[in-house]
This record gives sequence, structure tokens and C-alpha cells, in this order.
Amino acid sequence: MLDIDPDKLFDPYVSYEDCRPEFQKPFSYGDYLCATETHMFLRVDKSLLNADFATIDRDVSKIFPEANCCVSYTLRELEEAVDASMTGEEEIVVSPSIECDECDGTGFVEWEYISRHGHTYHDELQCPCCDGRGTFREKVKRKTGKKAANDGDCIGIGGAAIYTGYLAQMCETMRLIGSNHAELIAMKGHIYRFRLLSGVELVICATVQEPNYRLKI
Ligand SMILES: [Zn+2]
Repeated sequence: MLDIDPDKLFDPYVSYEDCRPEFQKPFSYGDYLCATETHMFLRVDKSLLNADFATIDRDVSKIFPEANCCVSYTLRELEEAVDASMTGEEEIVVSPSIECDECDGTGFVEWEYISRHGHTYHDELQCPCCDGRGTFREKVKRKTGKKAANDGDCIGIGGAAIYTGYLAQMCETMRLIGSNHAELIAMKGHIYRFRLLSGVELVICATVQEPNYRLKI
């Protein structure tokens, strides 16, 4: 049994896309509790967590490829690879942007013009309060001095590549569940299936366009 908050475990994997409402929260499928944002799919054996989610009407069993390999990576090895492949700098927002309340941040308002013959005309034009910017001040960010993954950062694994951001998320989940190694148990094209702990598995569909990785593990 895992002594962790199910929301904390599944939240990073739920979808925020309105076109996939069934994946906007964790769900139950067979013997598993699952969550996916469609690139990463986490499934946890129901016996490990004290939680129950609604079932979905979709066959997701095929997402997990048949076991065909076994390569073990320590959490430390993965964390070092993630760190070494990051080319960005972490920034945090220290002060949020100030939205224009006249145009609700859109930068446009409706204007009205009445001609000399009494005709009224309407048009959506630039907001005069914020000059069409939508905000009075952009958000203020500060660099933390830590590294962060840029969109194209990736790591070569088994002849394909995984985006660094996905592996960073996998490390985060491993730390949360107290796992110190991950086993790559299946690879099919660009689909990776990792076992993080007995009963906890993660599939990463990592089609990296033009993989340009400097690091291979
Ligand atoms: Zn405005």
C-alpha cells in the first residue's frame, strides 16, 4: 500500500485539453487506477491505493506494449541525465500580470459611431484604456538559478529519444512513491513502458521530432 495522496500522484498526468473530457481526471480501468494526458500514461494497481475513480468507456489496455526488454535505471542515473540535458533556466513568476478590466484582457472593446444621418455603427476596435495590450503590466519573472527543460531537450534511450520534461516528471513520480529505480520493460517504436515499482507503470509515447540529443543513457 502506498501512503500518498492519490491527487498528488495523478494530477501531473491528467489532460487539460477540452477535446478529451474523459482524460481530464484520473479514471479506473480493470484492476488499475489511471491518468493520461495522452503522451504519458500512468497506471497503478488498485491494491496499492486507497482511492476509486469512475470508469471510462474506452479500451486503453492496448496502450501498454507487451514486455520485450529489461533495462534498469537508478533514480540517480535518471536525475543526472535529466539535469545534464536541460538547456533552459527555471523562472518563477514573482508578480502576476495586471489585466485591463475595461476589455477583460482581450485588448478589444466595442465602439459605436452615429452618422450625421442618425445611423449607428458598431465595430470591435482597440481598447483605449490599455491601447490594445489587454494588460497594464506584464507578469514579472525571476530566474531561480536552477536549470529547466526547454521544449526540444531530449535524451536518447534504446535507439529513440524521450523529451527531458517527460523524464523529469517520471523522476518526480519515483521520488513521490519512494522508488529508487525504474525498469524499462518494453519498447515498441517510440513507445516506452517503464515499471517504477511493482504495480506502478508508466508509458511514455515519445515521438521526438528530429531528435537532437547530446546525451544517451
Ligand atoms: Zn483594455
